[in-house]
Amino acid sequence: MTFSIHGLAVARGIAIGRAVLVASSRMDVAHYFIDASQIEAEIDRVRIGRDAAVDEIQRLQASMVRKGAKETPHELAALLEVHLMLLKDVELSGGVKRWITDRLYNAEWALTTQLDVIARQFDEMEDEYLRERKADLEQITEKVLRAMRGVASPVALTSARAVRKPSQQDLLLDDTVDVPLILVAHDLSPSDMLQFKKSVFAGFITDVGGKTSHTAIVARSLDIPAVVGARLSSQLVRQDDWVIIDGDAGVVVVDPSPIILAEYGFKQRQGELERGRLTRLLNTPAVTLDGQKIELLANIEMPEDALGAVKAGAVGVGLFRSEFLFMGRRGKLPNEEEQYHAYKRAIEGMQGLSVTIRTVDVGADKPLDKSMQDNAHLNPALGLRAIRWSLADPAMFLTQLRAILRAAVHGPTHLLIPMLVHASEIRHTFSLIDRARVELDNRGVAYGPVKIGAMIEIPAAALTLKVFLKYFDFLSIGTNDLIQYTLAIDRADESVAHLYDPLHPAVLRLVAGTIVECQAQDKPVSVCGEMAGDISLTRLLLGMGLRSFSMHPAQILAVKQEVLRADTSKLKLWAEQVMAEDEPGLRMNRH
Ligand code: PEP
Ligand code: MG
Repeated sequence: MTFSIHGLAVARGIAIGRAVLVASSRMDVAHYFIDASQIEAEIDRVRIGRDAAVDEIQRLQASMVRKGAKETPHELAALLEVHLMLLKDVELSGGVKRWITDRLYNAEWALTTQLDVIARQFDEMEDEYLRERKADLEQITEKVLRAMRGVASPVALTSARAVRKPSQQDLLLDDTVDVPLILVAHDLSPSDMLQFKKSVFAGFITDVGGKTSHTAIVARSLDIPAVVGARLSSQLVRQDDWVIIDGDAGVVVVDPSPIILAEYGFKQRQGELERGRLTRLLNTPAVTLDGQKIELLANIEMPEDALGAVKAGAVGVGLFRSEFLFMGRRGKLPNEEEQYHAYKRAIEGMQGLSVTIRTVDVGADKPLDKSMQDNAHLNPALGLRAIRWSLADPAMFLTQLRAILRAAVHGPTHLLIPMLVHASEIRHTFSLIDRARVELDNRGVAYGPVKIGAMIEIPAAALTLKVFLKYFDFLSIGTNDLIQYTLAIDRADESVAHLYDPLHPAVLRLVAGTIVECQAQDKPVSVCGEMAGDISLTRLLLGMGLRSFSMHPAQILAVKQEVLRADTSKLKLWAEQVMAEDEPGLRMNRH
């Protein structure tokens, strides 16, 4: 039966495919397709893993027998029996085989998919005892996965087969292989999301998350349709259901009827045509009707993204979120050498265009590792985040600064500092930058010149620009956090997402005030938050005087189209009128 789930639109476009439910705890399980010739080998890997788990349990049973009945709690013996029974269960092994054979899933993926199918059956059981066997199922899956780790996959992740886009006919014929897959999860961390960058998924749905949460930001950078905050979707959608993601409306349609499928298929093709048309603007300079040159820059997460930024027509990188180099490394942070090479790759990748590297911004909804998810602090977004974290760990910060300064030899580089608010933090930051230079001098290592900028993303910073303008070469407005901190709305919390409003008059006043003040003092200023890539806001930002926008590469051409149609001489007055409204959003919609 067709039904829809409403969430938050994150990354535009339509995706149609089959649901793949992945438990948050299993996000690190590899997901890739194998070749038909590898089916037997992959089934063998599961068998070897399962045999090893059976063996482990039987050895435990034998040792219990040796110790005697008195020392062995009855419950443990019974539990091991249940585990053995589950391991030998035909539904588990038969199901796993089917996912491998019919869908060409790799062994780990097949195993966890089948686990999810059976776990749902347990959930629906009346008998409480049987319902509780779900935990046992989880445990034995974990055992098999662990045992399988020792059995190398014959298929390298990099050889993962790309998913062919199905024709409308495929979809209607319910073709089982080669259809796009839609990832459905309760939650995804930003680094989980990044891991899926080269993956097989054509779209993402999560139960939780706000529109400008970092998970949503990475989804947008992947440029594939995604909906977050689609509450309960991971419970309502079943493994293998057909789903449609409408990334523009923030809607998920489950089990669509043929008519709905055809309608969305049409919308999907329209979207693709529109994108195709935009590529004609690739080499057109971004100049408004009244001759204002507009700088369109890219936001990137990894050095490899630089190539995509150039291809998308970016004239530089306005924000390289360097923290993604630090995530998911189980506490072992990248050393100076590794960071230097990463920054160098990004700089060289931009082929002479400038790269703005933001120093590490972890904390709040960007934990270094999942295990470090900050539940200990009541308000992690107000806690030890970004520059606060860097200043609290000078050795780590100096390592990053030295790496950036060294990389600056390879091309125009800017250094950007996040979350500053106090003059003392600014001074402390500059003293560490000086120290990093001295350390390189002492080692006789070459480094390049950098322009140093600050992010304006806390209202207090926007209200005390004088001190920022005194120290910094340029400013970059981080509207994602500026909105969060101005309106006291957690950007990652979908329950207050309806109040997260870029058009709140207070937000507009802080953004416009920063732009005007920078212009008055002849300091470059850009916006690098999500507002910069939102085409419904391009004219307003131009009207405020903004001339530099940094966004996901996928947004650049759409924003350029807005720029080409704009006349800033007319937009200035209109922007002032919008900002004077109690509810600017209403006026914007009328425009
Ligand atoms: C911002 O806050 O607007 C920004 C660009 O930084 P981030 O989204 O990484 O916090
Ligand atoms: Mg920020």
